[in-house]
Amino acid sequence: MPPIPFTNTLQFARQLDAQDQLRSYRERFHLPAQKNGEPFLYFTGNSLGLQPQSTRDYVMTELDDWAKFGVEGHFHARNPWMPYHEFLTESVSRLVGAQAGEAVVMGSLTNNLHLLMVSFYRPTATRYKILMEADAFPSDHYAMDSQAKFHGFDPKDAVIKMKPREGEYTVRTEDILDMIAREGDSIATIMFGGMNYYTGQLFEMEKIVQAGHAKGCIVGFDLAHAVGNVPLKLHDWGVDFAAWCHYKYCNAGPGSVAGLFVHERFAQDTDRPRFAGWWGHDKERRFLMESEFRPIAGAESWQLSNAPILSMASLRASLAIFDEVGMEALRAKSLKLTAYLEYLLADVYEQVPIQVITPSEPAQRGAQLSLLTLKDGKALFNKLMEQGVITDWREPNVIRMAPVPLYNSYEDVWRFVQILIS
Ligand SMILES: *Cc1c(COP(=O)(O)O)cnc(C)c1O
Repeated sequence: MPPIPFTNTLQFARQLDAQDQLRSYRERFHLPAQKNGEPFLYFTGNSLGLQPQSTRDYVMTELDDWAKFGVEGHFHARNPWMPYHEFLTESVSRLVGAQAGEAVVMGSLTNNLHLLMVSFYRPTATRYKILMEADAFPSDHYAMDSQAKFHGFDPKDAVIKMKPREGEYTVRTEDILDMIAREGDSIATIMFGGMNYYTGQLFEMEKIVQAGHAKGCIVGFDLAHAVGNVPLKLHDWGVDFAAWCHYKYCNAGPGSVAGLFVHERFAQDTDRPRFAGWWGHDKERRFLMESEFRPIAGAESWQLSNAPILSMASLRASLAIFDEVGMEALRAKSLKLTAYLEYLLADVYEQVPIQVITPSEPAQRGAQLSLLTLKDGKALFNKLMEQGVITDWREPNVIRMAPVPLYNSYEDVWRFVQILIS
């Protein structure tokens, strides 16, 4: 992308909004309001995405059908609950780049990670390690450490946690590839975030997969911060497995149902160890109440329980918007919006003691910039909050903020920087 000639004025920000083909989508979301009735400047769509106006109808439809049909709703609801999760599969597959049978909406993120590790972390005496990022999300540390322990290993030895180089904030791809080349023979499973939640670094997943496979490792990703944020091609990249949530960039609501990907090369691998449940059983035979498990071919076989319909209804409302916009258009706006924020911040470095630790290379980031505060960070964060700006504070000293292309405007970003220097 050639450098965009930006200007640091409100007029220019408004001009960018006027040219933005996605600008009308903002009106399709509920923007949280301050006490004075003005909307907050909301930059935490990476933590909890905003509610689409359409969500209420989707959820009400299911509540009404439950009231009307009771248990018969499994077959007679307008959107029958028996196959309900299937109504989401195509849209989600588009978001993650999955082929038929590779993705399913189910469970919750950490649960899904555990289920996948049960199947895809099969340590032996010599190949028993897990490779992950050192500054991964806490739940991922707990999950990976406990998986190692579950198999009788000491996480201090079995879980390699990759740190950035001294004095750097993000992990260089070359260092990840070197690590895999050096340690790969002892690594059973590589489990990285697709995008690091703290720094906003988008990892070069395809290269990690290739390096991992060359060494005989299984390679999976936690896509919590990548899905709905950047285009993904899990199938083409050859990713073995992945899990993600939908309440961040996918706007499905607090704690809503998550997703899981298993590459088609494992679709028929029915002998692979797993923790099974009845929703993963051959659909034709599910109600024969057999005691022997016969897995569905593909990702759906990892399902345990019948589907959380209300949560899925809310996800459906949001996915309809993603289907309409498409990740390509979304990413194009996102690149420009984040670049504008970066440009405006560079203009005020003299005035505010902050440093962006997210990679400046657009291909290595999504909608988030993480601002390392060099002095009185918490006070700066509190000032933002008092002035109607919602960002996210991460101990010890980082403000994360995400201009989300579906509902943030160039004017939002310009106003944010004005408040930052006020
Ligand atoms: C948000 C997030 C989680 C949260 O896990 P839940 O099981 O949904 O509570 C886990 N891992 C990463 C990387 C995240 O960004």
